[in-house]
Amino acid sequence: NQKKLNWLGFQKKERTERIQMLKDNGFLTEEFEQLLKKNENLPLETANQMTENGIGTFALPFSIAPNFIIDEKDYAVPMVTEEPSVVAGCSYAAKIIGKSGGFTTKILDRKMIGQVALYDILDFENAISMILENKNEILKIANDAHPSIVARGGGAINIEAKNIDEFLIVYLIADVKEAMGANILNTMLETIKMPLENITNGKSLMAILSNYATESLVKAECEVNVKLLSSSMETSIETAKKIELASKFAKLDIYRATTHNKGIFNGIDAVVIATGNDWRAIEAGGNAFAVKNGKYEGLTTWTFDESTNKLKGELTLPMPIASVGGSIGLNPSVKAAFNILGNPDARTLASIITSVGLAQNFAAVKALVTTGIQHGHMKLQARSLALFAGAKGKEIDIVVEKLLESGKSINLENVKVILEEIKI
Ligand code: NDP
Repeated sequence: NQKKLNWLGFQKKERTERIQMLKDNGFLTEEFEQLLKKNENLPLETANQMTENGIGTFALPFSIAPNFIIDEKDYAVPMVTEEPSVVAGCSYAAKIIGKSGGFTTKILDRKMIGQVALYDILDFENAISMILENKNEILKIANDAHPSIVARGGGAINIEAKNIDEFLIVYLIADVKEAMGANILNTMLETIKMPLENITNGKSLMAILSNYATESLVKAECEVNVKLLSSSMETSIETAKKIELASKFAKLDIYRATTHNKGIFNGIDAVVIATGNDWRAIEAGGNAFAVKNGKYEGLTTWTFDESTNKLKGELTLPMPIASVGGSIGLNPSVKAAFNILGNPDARTLASIITSVGLAQNFAAVKALVTTGIQHGHMKLQARSLALFAGAKGKEIDIVVEKLLESGKSINLENVKVILEEIKI
């Protein structure tokens, strides 16, 4: 953190002023500054080539959560989400955690797993030993099907096989370098299908990548200085204890665990979408990983260390994120998001995204055990309603302020009345 960053008043600035601040803080190059200022989006011609039956493009808000420190490096994190208060919560958490030293991350591994399911196998034991005996040959066939990934230093590296019920499942493990690897693995798997049938005398049911990316685990950790949790030390300690309890609660009750994890994905998805990655893949893998201990649990763990007054947070989950492939090179907004993040490689991006998940969870849990979630939501809800009622420009802030001052319920009817009043 050689350079002192200035995010003063970022929340209250105009959109173009925020872009300027990103630039001034060294998070944006000239090219992308212009692109963002013009709000240049996915061109129709490109969009039409990307999916089938296209009729246009669909926009979502593009925001920034500043003040992230991850592995001792500063980041301003691009987030794409339609949900109010996600970016505010994330930014708040980043600031507090940043003041406590930031996030540290570990890439536990970065490989993708695919599978071929075989059936009609007469002798499982023999079939498995035949597969293992021919392992090198099968790996060669897989790699010959996608030589370019081998040329990049990656490729298929291992094969495992196991019998589950009537199936013989063959797992192919590959290093997919900077890609997410779906197409790479699917190509390899479809090529080894027939040789596997021949070796095992069985039939193949399907060959496909697995989104349960247990060989792509990323761990993010942080230690929050408890005194930053409130202005009184007594309240701060109480809050830290409650956050620990909340994390315990989310390990025990599936109703809470699901919502707890949804909150984590509020942050994760927003960055995954901004960086053009496959958020369904990340969600599916993360939710499956939440069941790794035999029941669905909250993915984060918070523990309060009374001897040091530190609240320790940890989040580990599969993060098979890519810096190339898919729509990454096609969407100018995605390129801008990469530019803002300093063009991270896949590993660094996975670390950033996992840290955002931990930050988002901290913000949500802290709000829940203190003021409650609605407190922070009210103002944002009032803003959404003001927009919905047709308020424009400065009218929006005036309507929100007057509605909150009035103490009346935050609903469309009351917003409309105030909007009428200020227009007179
Ligand atoms: P792509 O096939 O789009 O891109 C990967 C390709 O990028 C590689 O084959 C390689 O091709 C090229 N590349 C360039 N530089 C590198 C590098 N440094 N490291 C690795 N590859 C590089 O993407 P994926 O195979 O990653 O598949 C992701 C897409 O598949 C996503 O759009 C996803 O939505 C979709 N998908 C997901 C599924 C799932 O999750 N279950 C199933 C099916 C599809 P070359 O070497 O030839 O240049």
